[in-house]
Amino acid sequence: MSVPVEPHVMKTYGRLPIALSHGQGCRVWDTDGRVYLDGLGGIAVNTLGHAHPKLVPALQEQVAKLIHCCNYYHVPLQEQLAAKLVALSGLSNVFFCNSGLEANEAALKLARKFGHDKGIDRPEVIVYEKAFHGRSIATLSATGNPKVQAGFGPLVEGFVRVPLNDMEAMERVAAERPHVVAVFLETIQGEGGINAARWEYLRDVRALCDAKGWLLMLDEVQCGIGRTGKWFAHQWADIQPDVMPLAKGLGSGVPIGAVVCGPKAATIFQPGNHGTTFGGNPLSMRAGIETLRIMEEDGLLYNAATVGTQLMAALSEGLVNVPGVLEVRGYGLMIGIELDRPCGELLLQAANAGLLLSVTADRVIRLVPPLIISSEEAAEIVAILVPLIKEFLSESAA
Ligand SMILES: *Cc1c(COP(=O)(O)O)cnc(C)c1O
Repeated sequence: MSVPVEPHVMKTYGRLPIALSHGQGCRVWDTDGRVYLDGLGGIAVNTLGHAHPKLVPALQEQVAKLIHCCNYYHVPLQEQLAAKLVALSGLSNVFFCNSGLEANEAALKLARKFGHDKGIDRPEVIVYEKAFHGRSIATLSATGNPKVQAGFGPLVEGFVRVPLNDMEAMERVAAERPHVVAVFLETIQGEGGINAARWEYLRDVRALCDAKGWLLMLDEVQCGIGRTGKWFAHQWADIQPDVMPLAKGLGSGVPIGAVVCGPKAATIFQPGNHGTTFGGNPLSMRAGIETLRIMEEDGLLYNAATVGTQLMAALSEGLVNVPGVLEVRGYGLMIGIELDRPCGELLLQAANAGLLLSVTADRVIRLVPPLIISSEEAAEIVAILVPLIKEFLSESAA
């Protein structure tokens, strides 16, 4: 394997001994010419797979026209993408940035200013166990994973943590803490191991937020943009958030983040309160516009729902009664297979068998493939993965 030696790149990642060269659809090739089926999509980012024939020419045209101009000027493509996100979400206004953590950082600033505007000068935000919101100081403080926080204290204050899907815990916090201004959660936890908020729980939390005058802020950085078969995962629960950070899949690989706000949050930021140099640049806006347009044209919500259902059913069937498999769960093309033991080794084993995937929360195999994936490709994932999991479980200790 010709893996590059990289003495100059900072060693922040535990990387596999693979270097990818190019892709087409749901396949990627490494620099040795080996081909992989992409069950990971760059961590739920490559919505349209690789080298999509409709996306590539649009981006090429945009690069040749205007990549960046900064926010001293109007950027008409921002209004175009914002209008589309507003139409799809039923919310009202959008702020654009460049990544998931930036979108969450903006959401947290919104919550704080929302509090200050009400005369609460030490506002608190309710966050969750096993949550992941990013790796800036504020977003790692909101994150519920001690590994992400270790070594970076002092953490940002003003967070109150509760377990997911526990309405009693939430009501206790509501009764005890007068300075809470917002609830901040992932509609479906991604890094935490594919743990969905129950739809009924979300409706109860929405009602509590309304009763208390809190903002409901749903981090859909990973589960949004069609991944679950709806544009946004909370739409399954038939509710609306006040603030919704987006990123990963929105640009099909071009870095982009967005915070979509409803009427309660849309005017909290006034000129001068927040900003970014790169955010909303024409290239990323074009990537977002074309991603959403192609998703509609090519029926990718329907594809995510139907192929996702097939994939989940086939995995469940293939792994039924296999000792060591605790659960197969998820929505659409956001699927987790929880084992009874750490399974990080499966990353390289799967890659050697021609499949890219991820392992999160130590023991959950995560599949978040491009939304263009076909039934045949989903069947191929099952054909590779099921025997691999069985073999892994029979050869490793629980
Ligand atoms: C990936 C992720 C983030 C962080 O996004 P970055 O673009 O890596 O900063 C935040 N929230 C959730 C739910 C994510 O999955």
